[in-house]
Amino acid sequence: MFKYKTVNGKKVYSIDKAICLEMLALADEYLKRTFPKPNGYAVVALTDKGNMYPGISYCSDTFTLTMHSEASALNHAAIHGETRIIAITGPNCHICKQLIYESSLRSKIDTVIVLKEKDRIKQVPISSLMLYPWPEKPRI
Ligand SMILES: [Zn+2]
Repeated sequence: MFKYKTVNGKKVYSIDKAICLEMLALADEYLKRTFPKPNGYAVVALTDKGNMYPGISYCSDTFTLTMHSEASALNHAAIHGETRIIAITGPNCHICKQLIYESSLRSKIDTVIVLKEKDRIKQVPISSLMLYPWPEKPRI
């Protein structure tokens, strides 16, 4: 369904621009649903089956308990039995980069971060954002 190349034992997908734009538009749409107020953070994860799973930030007054939109999106996909995330919208905080990276270790898919930079769509593999990655392989 999607084109990929294998780099260092991981699949790196190339996502059509139209799908990237759809993901980014959907993420913007879900900004209305962030909790408890709109305009928090929202992302969309794309799986190798072509399904898109939005995630929204869900804030706690403690902040420590706040769920980031990326965790929410990965959880949303997992609830539907999908853990092969080929792309997710960004930019993402460093905590979420770590979570996406760990997901990529398990799936052997180098998840691409889909970003809009000025008028250009960029697709950046998560591995390229992890200069000194940890762990080397999934621990659990
Ligand atoms: Zn985050």
